[in-house]
Amino acid sequence: MPDHKFLFKIYGVRGSYPVSPTGGTQFGGNTTCVMARTSNQIVIFDAGSGIIPLGKELVPEILEHQKKENGPFHITLMFTHTHIDHLLGLPYFAPIYMPQVHLHFIGPATVGVDFETILRTQVLPQYFPVSMDEFRSQKSFYNISENTFVHFNNSSEPIIGDVRQQKPNNSGFRIETMKYYFHPKDGTYLYNIQWNNHKIIFATDIEGYKSGDQRLINFARNADILIHDAQYTEEQYRMFCGYGHSSFVMACDTAQEANVKKLLLFHHDPNNSDQDLLALEQNAQKLFPAAELAKEGWSWKV
Ligand SMILES: [Zn+2]
Ligand SMILES: [Zn+2]
Repeated sequence: MPDHKFLFKIYGVRGSYPVSPTGGTQFGGNTTCVMARTSNQIVIFDAGSGIIPLGKELVPEILEHQKKENGPFHITLMFTHTHIDHLLGLPYFAPIYMPQVHLHFIGPATVGVDFETILRTQVLPQYFPVSMDEFRSQKSFYNISENTFVHFNNSSEPIIGDVRQQKPNNSGFRIETMKYYFHPKDGTYLYNIQWNNHKIIFATDIEGYKSGDQRLINFARNADILIHDAQYTEEQYRMFCGYGHSSFVMACDTAQEANVKKLLLFHHDPNNSDQDLLALEQNAQKLFPAAELAKEGWSWKV
């Protein structure tokens, strides 16, 4: 990262399942995965199929690190929730196989099942040939709560704290959380990713509330970027109301109320073609001119 101190990059934008349309897609076919990082501190949000190309990108950096330093290469992975579209890339994430890597998994216990158990279940021999203990990386697991924060001092190892016991840093790289209840069957976590006085809100897999959700609006207030679920057009939303996803109108309303600088429409429906998506974007821009479709490879640097 020679020309900037902080990078945010998108690796997967689809909801539900990955797509590979015969006509191609300019927005990308991988499911949810985004990354925020400084030169040595890396946080990945969700492990949809987008984490697979991200893992390949990290391998040369990990090998380089190994030549220069003795300590492990730390990567923090935070999960919004554990639906399959947000997990399916994990067994194919190259760094999970590398012994010099230490992965810090942070995510929600769901419907009474511990977060670590959920990840271990995904790679039971009935589903995947390599078990969690056979992946050669070092691994730590943490159940998240609404009081969890993550921050970094100078090291690449995350400091995972609870706001009731300790205050997070108010500068540098840090992440705070909010639980959102309107996503079946046990809600989802939203992330406030901060770098000094900059702020990015990652809010996927949420269904808007009528007249907006003041908690989310406050959480997202004045953000540089709001990434908001916008799976549906208005017509589609009428058919899938209650499924836990938003129409682009809900995303635009929240962006407007929260006074964000940019809105990225996210969790694209796998049934929507590029033409459908472009029409959705045009309609969104009538409501909130700084709206655009999230796209694989999109990045923001400070
Ligand atoms: Zn999803
Ligand atoms: Zn979901």
